[in-house]
Amino acid sequence: MSLPRTIRSASTVHAKSGDNICIKVTSKLPSASARWVAIICSHFDAVMDGTMGSKFVAICKGCGFRSEELYAGFGFQGAGDHYMWPSICPKCRSFGLKDQRHPPQRCRRCKAEVVFYGSEDFSKKYFPDITKVEPVGEDTSQNILDGRHVCPECGKVALIFESRGDWS
Ligand SMILES: [Zn+2]
Ligand SMILES: [Zn+2]
Repeated sequence: MSLPRTIRSASTVHAKSGDNICIKVTSKLPSASARWVAIICSHFDAVMDGTMGSKFVAICKGCGFRSEELYAGFGFQGAGDHYMWPSICPKCRSFGLKDQRHPPQRCRRCKAEVVFYGSEDFSKKYFPDITKVEPVGEDTSQNILDGRHVCPECGKVALIFESRGDWS
């Protein structure tokens, strides 16, 4: 990891994976003391120009399942940073955003370890029984906008992710 950089006044911070950034937050009130906020950015080259993530909708071409808008990407919660990403439970098919930066993430309903869409090992983790493996988009691309994925509703490989742009 590189040495911390100090950015004195910037609304937009350009960071790349592994950067360790310190932002000095100074108040206009003379009596107020400066505060330091440390941000460790280590997932993607993503916190750029204020963009925090991507918005998706998941739609099943088989059964008509349609997710709410999924705000995937960076966020801060409590003391740590997280990276929220669409996931599915291989046991009960619970669907939702989970923190991909801190695996393993467990299903709220059945406590099984969830599988992240777009991850290389999706197939291996989702189909533990080798005789039941079906081809999924993850076999050929890590971009969830490519190919078809497992639907949380009907279980068929008929789910697509549509981009709804970025959010910040
Ligand atoms: Zn589950
Ligand atoms: Zn479906």
